[in-house]
Amino acid sequence: MNKEIDELRRLLNEYNHLYYVEAAPVVSDFEYDRMMRRLQELEAQHPEEFDPASPTQRVGSDLNNEFETVVHRFPMLSLSNTYSLEELHEFCNKVEKEVGEVEYVCELKFDGTAISLTYENGILTRGVTRGDGTQGDDVTANVKTIRSIPLKLRGNDYPDFFEIRGEILMPYDTFNRLNAEREDIGENPFANPRNAAAGTLKLQNSSIVAERGLDCFLYYMSGDDLPYKSHWENLQKAREWGFKISDRMRLCRSWDEVMNYITEADELRKSLPYATDGAVIKVNDYALQKRLGYTAKAPKWAVAYKFKAEAALTELLSVDFQVGRTGAITPVANLNPVQLAGTVVKRASLHNAEQIALLDIRLGDMVYVEKGGEIIPKITGVELSERKSESRPFEYISKCPECGTELIKVDGEAKHYCPNQTLCPPQIVGRIIHFISRKAMNIEGIGEETALLLYQCGLVNNIADLYDIQPNMIATLPRLGEKSAENIIHSLSESKKVPFGRVLFALGIRFVGETTAKKLAAHFKNIDALMAADYEELIQADEVGSKIAESIHDYFADSANKEIIERLRRAGVQFEIVEQEQLSNSIAGLKFVISGKFERHSRDELKELIEKHGGKNISAVSANVDFVLAGSDMGPAKAAKAEKLGVRIISESEFEKMINSDEINTETEKKVTESIEYVKTATQGELF
Ligand code: NAD
Repeated sequence: MNKEIDELRRLLNEYNHLYYVEAAPVVSDFEYDRMMRRLQELEAQHPEEFDPASPTQRVGSDLNNEFETVVHRFPMLSLSNTYSLEELHEFCNKVEKEVGEVEYVCELKFDGTAISLTYENGILTRGVTRGDGTQGDDVTANVKTIRSIPLKLRGNDYPDFFEIRGEILMPYDTFNRLNAEREDIGENPFANPRNAAAGTLKLQNSSIVAERGLDCFLYYMSGDDLPYKSHWENLQKAREWGFKISDRMRLCRSWDEVMNYITEADELRKSLPYATDGAVIKVNDYALQKRLGYTAKAPKWAVAYKFKAEAALTELLSVDFQVGRTGAITPVANLNPVQLAGTVVKRASLHNAEQIALLDIRLGDMVYVEKGGEIIPKITGVELSERKSESRPFEYISKCPECGTELIKVDGEAKHYCPNQTLCPPQIVGRIIHFISRKAMNIEGIGEETALLLYQCGLVNNIADLYDIQPNMIATLPRLGEKSAENIIHSLSESKKVPFGRVLFALGIRFVGETTAKKLAAHFKNIDALMAADYEELIQADEVGSKIAESIHDYFADSANKEIIERLRRAGVQFEIVEQEQLSNSIAGLKFVISGKFERHSRDELKELIEKHGGKNISAVSANVDFVLAGSDMGPAKAAKAEKLGVRIISESEFEKMINSDEINTETEKKVTESIEYVKTATQGELF
């Protein structure tokens, strides 16, 4: 066995898993592609080492056992790629030698995650990931939340059945916002928009997917009766049916036109709102595509020309350590200022100790910095040939740079933390700033500077102190006069109307972001119930897993936090849900059991809707129950029990119709009966 081949296969398989399944790559794409290229060369030199399981022969798999797998009607392959124009030219020559003159379709190579959508009679019926190329994960519920994917097609000239494939991506602004929110609540940020899109698509909760603002470009159609015989024409038609087809694609008839496209695309991508990592060159005519055929891993009629990320090489001068409001430590590199993609870069994020160790970044090293549309540039590698002989591995700090407390590192989490929540200054100020922020208590008149000033003057040491502020205390502070004092006091008083969900977010409990806070408020209704909840009760709430449950538990176990909550409560801050008025009486007196997962609502939202429309929530199926509201994966035992007791099973859309009608009339009854039949048929395999 050739040792290098063996080692490369092992490493590439590991990198594939980290990239496709964990959405957390540890090497750059360029480095990965370089290793893959080396393995291809070695395998070509040693045909006796051929192995169909080698990463050169297989599509990197994203299957993760958490979704139902579906076999693709047509395999979903990768693309061969090159970073060299010369090789791209060779590709065109080879194609033309084999099939004669051709038309190429040149497209942007979107940097997201591949999806295959099935449409039957104009209705989206399935969304499946690439998986291992042969079978993929069924992520239909998540796909349906993406607004640019049509659920129903326009017009009437589409085939009865076809598949359309494309790329799901996360635009830069959404990605930057998501990462800022993640950092803010102490979560690890995503490495890049591609990973954020791939990670989001594999979430179990579709309502979070809906909030993440994914987008989707479609770039390939397959089916037995497509309207045209070429790729270009079918995609133009697909645009008419409502699909998002890039208007940046071009039909090219010569190598010069292909070259021009590539030059333009390389320039264009710097101003696009989403990530692209190259251009894809495809033979347009289906008959020629068929003649050219496929390798085990990719079509021979297409190739990706990848752009090498724009990088600058500069010296790492020093590393600062920032302490966030949750105590998380973020190392930031100070660089010798360097010009990169039109701006001067002086600082770059290093994320955490693991990242520094992984890249073996050392002080004084010459490091590569890349920008790629994200707010903060990042260090992607070290130029080892320029490493100084006296350099030593980077020693991560063990004490908080602000308060000197010994740092802690929890297993499974990437960042170090300063546990000194009550006395570490940036944590105190960070919590105050978070509390007053627009999305939290929205206290106008106090900005970050004023918050710092109030803390430095000893007026505000925690969020509860804010409500003890008197106008005369503020008016004497530098830069603040009577007018600002009035403004602040008014704003503090207004903040007492902020609903419980946002107050909970404003407290700044680690890992409790805006959405989780809202769901917790809806579930527990008031702070006393939340504080009294044990671990088991906490994880019953939507979106709460063990990490969040433990964090909430720790927060309320701290007597200093309890005292702050009592003081806020006395000040008049909302610590319970103010029940909204009844929306209707359409399901008055009816009893519901909710079971399974739903497409458009979370379970807590459905419970709330039941109550607001006069119905009652019941936890277990019994003869007393009127309806079981069944989601996609209702447990078979529950379904069988409902069936036996004659309890009616309804779907989410039937429920929506029920609550939107004024009363349960005969028409609704009829629809409900129909839906029971539908659900019975749909779950038959599972039930009987
Ligand atoms: P790829 O991303 O290089 O190319 C194929 C994919 O391109 C398709 O599956 C499709 O999703 C996408 N695509 C985007 N725009 C397209 C268009 N207009 N037409 C057709 N397809 C389009 O290949 P891959 O198999 O998904 O991934 C392999 C690549 O991923 C590697 O070359 C490497 O760069 C990267 N990778 C990196 C790591 C790492 O650890 N850094 C690990 C695994 C893979």
